[in-house]
Amino acid sequence: MNHLLEVRHLNVAFRSRERELQAVRDVSFHINEQETLAIVGESGSGKSVTARAIMGMLPSPYGSIKGGEIHFQGQPITGLNKRALRKIRGSEIGMVFQDPMSSLNPTMKIGAQIGEGLLQHQKFTRAEARRRTIELLQLVGIPDAASRYHQYPHEFSGGMRQRVAIAIALACNPKLLIADEPTTALDVTIQAQIMDMLTDLQERMGSSILLITHDLGVVAEVAHRVAVMYAGIIVETGTVEDIFERPRHPYTWGLLQSTPKLDAPDQERLVPIEGSPPDLYSPPQGCPFAQRCPYAMEVCVHHLPEAMSFTDNHSARCWLNDPRSPVEHAPIAARR
Ligand code: SF4
Ligand code: MG
Repeated sequence: MNHLLEVRHLNVAFRSRERELQAVRDVSFHINEQETLAIVGESGSGKSVTARAIMGMLPSPYGSIKGGEIHFQGQPITGLNKRALRKIRGSEIGMVFQDPMSSLNPTMKIGAQIGEGLLQHQKFTRAEARRRTIELLQLVGIPDAASRYHQYPHEFSGGMRQRVAIAIALACNPKLLIADEPTTALDVTIQAQIMDMLTDLQERMGSSILLITHDLGVVAEVAHRVAVMYAGIIVETGTVEDIFERPRHPYTWGLLQSTPKLDAPDQERLVPIEGSPPDLYSPPQGCPFAQRCPYAMEVCVHHLPEAMSFTDNHSARCWLNDPRSPVEHAPIAARR
């Protein structure tokens, strides 16, 4: 199988003083060419950390990869030095973050910022870079591109700044775009415009997207496949249809029940998931959702289930899907 990106058994930890936070545990997934994979989960579930680990951007010295492998275009990138990683980031993997100001330089005209990558990584001449930059500004929907070229980030609205950040990320025609909550800071209409633009550009440029989001509505709109993360673990992965129409993990059920449906005129009652995620400084040895799960069994408390596959695309880490449940794995009666 030729996956553009393949992550195998990734473990990431953060050290502070004497304690270690296990932010990502045994995470495996892949992204195919021209595919959008959404990683969805609450804040603190490890989705951004996973993205940062892929890009070699864990905050040093606290964050580090403790185990596992990341392959990009068939090559391992886990052990690469900073310089080699920076090269890949500049040309083959583009990145967009929630706050565009974090990727824009406030003291530099935006034309120069977009052109920088083209000069550095693509060996463009200044004239070529300028032409391509204006083209990119038009591509991301910035009107009057030629005059906007000379403006600074503060002269743009939030939505327009995010468009500029996307232009920078796409400048070198990356194979993979990693977008971490790219529309979360924007208002709803602008969010939809930006997501539409991203998917449109993806089709035109043939790139893949790793989309990090907490928003199931966005996932349903743009993703091909979905990985649901909870407490540092991928608890379920499948196509959009698998996750929305035949989910197999109680946490996914909870997420779906707690999310408003845009197309349902009579809003069904939203049911929040009771309780809170476990402390990742001392993660439970069993299923991380056990404390909140209405279906928890004794086995759940003691053993973290492996991913069980239903189809090539669809799998979940939940004991309910074990053929021995619920006969051999009896529910915890007291919770019923
Ligand atoms: Fe619930 Fe057990 Fe499944 Fe975890 S493994 S989600 S506790 S049923
Ligand atoms: Mg995040």
